[in-house]
Amino acid sequence: MTTTNLTLQAPSPAGLTWAITRNENAKSDAERDAILADPGFGNHFTDHMVDICWSEKGGWHRPRVSPYGPIQLEPSAAVLHYAQEIFEGLKAYRHADGSVWTFRPYENAARMQRSAARLALPELPSEYFIDSIRQLVAVDGAWVPSAPETSLYLRPFMFAKEAFLGVRPAKKVAYYLIASPAGAYFHGGVQPVSIWLSTKYARAGKGGTGAAKTGGNYASSLLPQAEAAQHGCQQVLFLDEGKYLEELGGMNLVLVYRDGTLVTPESDSILEGITRDSVLQLAKDRGHTVESRKVTIDEWREGAASGEIVGAFACGTAAVITPIGRLLAEDFEIVHGGPEASELALSLREELTGIQYGRVEDRHGWLLRLDA
Ligand SMILES: *Cc1c(COP(=O)(O)O)cnc(C)c1O
Repeated sequence: MTTTNLTLQAPSPAGLTWAITRNENAKSDAERDAILADPGFGNHFTDHMVDICWSEKGGWHRPRVSPYGPIQLEPSAAVLHYAQEIFEGLKAYRHADGSVWTFRPYENAARMQRSAARLALPELPSEYFIDSIRQLVAVDGAWVPSAPETSLYLRPFMFAKEAFLGVRPAKKVAYYLIASPAGAYFHGGVQPVSIWLSTKYARAGKGGTGAAKTGGNYASSLLPQAEAAQHGCQQVLFLDEGKYLEELGGMNLVLVYRDGTLVTPESDSILEGITRDSVLQLAKDRGHTVESRKVTIDEWREGAASGEIVGAFACGTAAVITPIGRLLAEDFEIVHGGPEASELALSLREELTGIQYGRVEDRHGWLLRLDA
């Protein structure tokens, strides 16, 4: 890592003066191409990162683009002890003409503000959030892959960096943005997943932090996720109050009814997914009825048995839409077999990715161009 080669930019439209330090050990074109040929997910990071400091006295200040590398923290940094931390996840997509776009980023910015409020962190202005993405893509745009279904995954995050072991909201906070090239999630076609119903554990509780995108919810999902794997399932489904469907811990849930109605569970412990919102909007545009309401596990069980519920899918930025072929519980199982069970999910997936990759008209104005 090097700290030479520093330039100060003229203030951006968001009013920030970025200090830009180029990474002099950036990957060569050949090294980057080798990574982009098979990036997987979350394994590789681009040459640069962005950070903005916040302090109680100075507000948001010192916006920087610098070489990707380790962060220095005091061992007493509050985040390491009390998990005062939030994050976001969105993607940059390369279109056929080479241009680079992102999808509904103002929704991510607004959600990060809601998460911040819940975790007693400062709210990052939406314009700063968008600016940070533009800055990173300006230096690392070559990292946006172009093969079908690939993208550059963007990971904004914020944490309490104040060195202080007392319990109160930190007076010093850092916002960062890093980026990681992502390969096609499914190789050889989208495959339905099996999910395990966790009845012993919850990821979040009533009045807790379930609706915030915060690491603690993920920490509490790891053990039940391991339990799911032991039962041969790829994902785990959590319940609310022991009987209402909640979500998968990193993806939202949607049930498909025989008459084409889509139902998604409602609860104050569910993270409101932007993928879910988009998919449900596309379904409404097609004339489907869409409901957000409490759904019990018994409703799913009985509906699947009677044929009233014909399928289910999970949705989130990373995997977009994943049909659920089977739900396995301690003492019962729900199976949604056959191609018709995933037909609607797959066609909505095709439409949504079509918009994201510029193949389908963006009639809702969801895309934002990043490289112009
Ligand atoms: C991020 C996330 C989702 C999906 O949200 P998207 O905006 O669609 O990516 C669902 N559940 C949890 C717990 C999440 O953190």
